[in-house]
Amino acid sequence: MNLFLDQITFHGNQDLEVTDEMKLSIAAQACLPIVNSPVWYDTLRTILVYPSGFRTGRNTHDGFVVHESDIGTLGESWARGPVVLSWDHALQGGLDAEDGHNVVIHEFAHQLDSLTGHTNGLPILRKGQAFLGWEKAMLDAYHGHVERVESGRPTLVDAYGATNHQEFFAEAIVTFFEKPQALRREEPALYAQLAELLALDPARWAGADR
Ligand SMILES: [Zn+2]
Repeated sequence: MNLFLDQITFHGNQDLEVTDEMKLSIAAQACLPIVNSPVWYDTLRTILVYPSGFRTGRNTHDGFVVHESDIGTLGESWARGPVVLSWDHALQGGLDAEDGHNVVIHEFAHQLDSLTGHTNGLPILRKGQAFLGWEKAMLDAYHGHVERVESGRPTLVDAYGATNHQEFFAEAIVTFFEKPQALRREEPALYAQLAELLALDPARWAGADR
């Protein structure tokens, strides 16, 4: 987190003053996925913070912008930076570790994904992690997820993950941290791949969901 805070410059939008508390909260959530990993947010230098959900007039389909629509946009991740966040939602994500939502982890999952140069749901795999095993686990889980969403059934991973491979990757990472035991039970192959990728096993952490 110290390295992260040293590397990143925060900018408040709409007159938001970015406090040390905000920086720490965002840094803690952003660093969680890579806490035990050799990968690093190499190219990221800037985080823009809005007070709440925001509107952007940018083209969202140029392959560089990813953003989430709800009432407004909660967050964006640009390949090679920046990350843009709603502070309201970043704070809420930090306060509730089990509701299945976390915009900071979601956007930083996109950052991890982008380190290959392509934001496509295929991150840099762990040394020794077999591509075929990864691909099968992700595609099986993704196709099952899309089917359930399309037939209106409830899903463990947020329905937004059915948008495309990169959104499924981001939401799967969020679920991995927010509902690890449920994910391990329902999608054991996916859970195992994410656990290997990040070298973390949150289902075993004290206080994990049942
Ligand atoms: Zn996204």
